[in-house]
Amino acid sequence: MENIREQNIFLIDKKGKPNLIGSKCLGCDHMSFPAKEVCPYCMTNGRSEEILIGKLGIVVSATTCHTAPKGIQVPYTLGTIEIDYGVHVLAQITGNTIRKGDKVELVIYSSVSVESAEETIGWKYQIVEGGGQ
Ligand SMILES: [Zn+2]
Repeated sequence: MENIREQNIFLIDKKGKPNLIGSKCLGCDHMSFPAKEVCPYCMTNGRSEEILIGKLGIVVSATTCHTAPKGIQVPYTLGTIEIDYGVHVLAQITGNTIRKGDKVELVIYSSVSVESAEETIGWKYQIVEGGGQ
């Protein structure tokens, strides 16, 4: 199986495991997600390398959302996840109970719009079995 790259946001590796695509600044080692051309920390331009991060993370904060754009079921949980190198990402989190400090893993999902029949592939985090406090 070849790597599958989606929207320059995530990549599914040869083992079928998803990773987020971030960048490491070669000027100051700052890690960013999504990958950035210009480092938001030292403003170095065009000197970064791609890093694959975010297979696992820890819930920093989470909130339940009761309104959403068309096509997204409510309620759903949105939270901040700390991944590799201390990078924080905002993502949907799924699981029965979601608490600060829970371990989560990156998962890829697809959904099909009822109206346009277009398939969307997205990413979110789900609570790791037994990963709660
Ligand atoms: Zn930098």
